[in-house]
Amino acid sequence: MKIAIIGAGFSGMAAAYDLVKAGHKATIFEAANDVGGLAGGFKDPGWDWSVEKFYHHWFASDKHMLGLIKELGWEDKVLFPRPLTVMYHNGKFYPFDSIVKALLFPGLGFGINKIRFGLVGLFLRLTNDWKALEKYTVAEWLSKWAGEKVYKMMWEPLVIGKFGERYYKQVNMAWMWARLKARTTRLGTFEGGFQNFANLFADRLREMGVEVRLKSPVTLIERRAGKDGVMVHSETIETYDMVLVTLSPEAISRLVPSLPEEYLHGLRNLKSMGAVVIALALKHQLSEEGYYWYNLPKSAGYPFLALVEHTNYVGADKFGGDHIVYMGDYLEPEHEFFRLSQEELLERFLPALKKFNPKFERNWVRKSWLFRTAYAQPVPLINHSQNIPSIETPVEGVYFASMSQVYPWDRGTNFAVEIGRKAAVLMLNNGKLKD
Ligand SMILES: Cc1cc2nc3c(=O)[nH]c(=O)nc-3n(C[C@H](O)[C@H](O)[C@H](O)COP(=O)(O)OP(=O)(O)OC[C@H]3O[C@@H](n4cnc5c(N)ncnc54)[C@H](O)[C@@H]3O)c2cc1C
Repeated sequence: MKIAIIGAGFSGMAAAYDLVKAGHKATIFEAANDVGGLAGGFKDPGWDWSVEKFYHHWFASDKHMLGLIKELGWEDKVLFPRPLTVMYHNGKFYPFDSIVKALLFPGLGFGINKIRFGLVGLFLRLTNDWKALEKYTVAEWLSKWAGEKVYKMMWEPLVIGKFGERYYKQVNMAWMWARLKARTTRLGTFEGGFQNFANLFADRLREMGVEVRLKSPVTLIERRAGKDGVMVHSETIETYDMVLVTLSPEAISRLVPSLPEEYLHGLRNLKSMGAVVIALALKHQLSEEGYYWYNLPKSAGYPFLALVEHTNYVGADKFGGDHIVYMGDYLEPEHEFFRLSQEELLERFLPALKKFNPKFERNWVRKSWLFRTAYAQPVPLINHSQNIPSIETPVEGVYFASMSQVYPWDRGTNFAVEIGRKAAVLMLNNGKLKD
């Protein structure tokens, strides 16, 4: 079969890998100059490693990604340091990445609240019944079982940060379950950065016969009555036996207008958040305590949700001595941060850095980069499992595999690999049925 894959992120590349291994011909169309999608990175002159545009790491539980890397023979290139994550409380930051550290965190006192926090955390780690949890919002379930104080102190800032004022009270409890279930304190990366991995993977795919077309945005996918195959419009118009789209729900609904109304309606009803991230190359280390990840509650007045000092995770020696710091937030695509210029955003963000290191001065910034994406984080509402678009779309031969379908898991490259490979199996089986 001749198969087109739209998007060279990890879903698209993982699907291509399985499809060519099964003897089919795959062509990947990628709009950007590089492969890697949302997990891609960039490299400044003088750096040995690339850094992700949006901060990225793997968890030790990311079995689909780590399994794929093993199959490709690159497990020796995966590094799993244990960087420090901290949590804000009353103007100070406290380490918060192990049970012992959580027990020492002063935010909950040392009485019943801490016990309830611990017991609820343990229950969520042990249960697999996420379907029972998706019937409740995070707010109602955690207020009931962990108590109002624990919810407000520990969990509400997280859901507000991720989903904003509009959605935070509606997000379902299975999302929180998935977060706690899949996360580990050891965090993984690839030698040279995620972009290096994406490039190596694309090169391997090319060696296996996959055609990877960069700078080739697809504008329309259609199936004409009475004609065999699916037509893909890019610089050329070509016909394929099957097409896999790995873009956002909004993008597939634009590219495949012949999708029936019911499927389109489902896609349009899905809610999501965008992300705005500024990466800085600083001349000095910001967090002298060596903290990697700061969780910041919106209520404490920071202009961003997370401050991540990448070089407190991967050494600054990989970046010509630059200290890489991200300031990032999840926001609705209508938010003004999607319209402000990089300079205007720096004006808003940089003054806050003094709170992390009073010695910080603006002239520490050697260079900065702004990255924005309108599609960064699906928002799972009550009983969200009923809203997941099927991988096999109602248009014959057109398949869809994206972040919006990895539920109950939260989005991540691990689940991009899983959904890409799942789509490949479906395509292969359906292809067999037709032969
Ligand atoms: C702020 C942020 C932080 C994250 N942190 C982590 C993390 O720490 N760990 C982790 O594992 N994951 C993380 N993720 C999630 C991870 O990046 C995604 O889950 C994953 O990259 C999704 O891969 P994908 O292939 O499904 O989609 P994408 O990566 O979005 O790939 C889709 C591709 O399609 C291309 N494209 C778009 N339109 C067209 C078109 N018309 N024609 C052709 N090509 C097109 C795009 O350029 C893109 O390359 C994070 C994401 C964000 C936004």
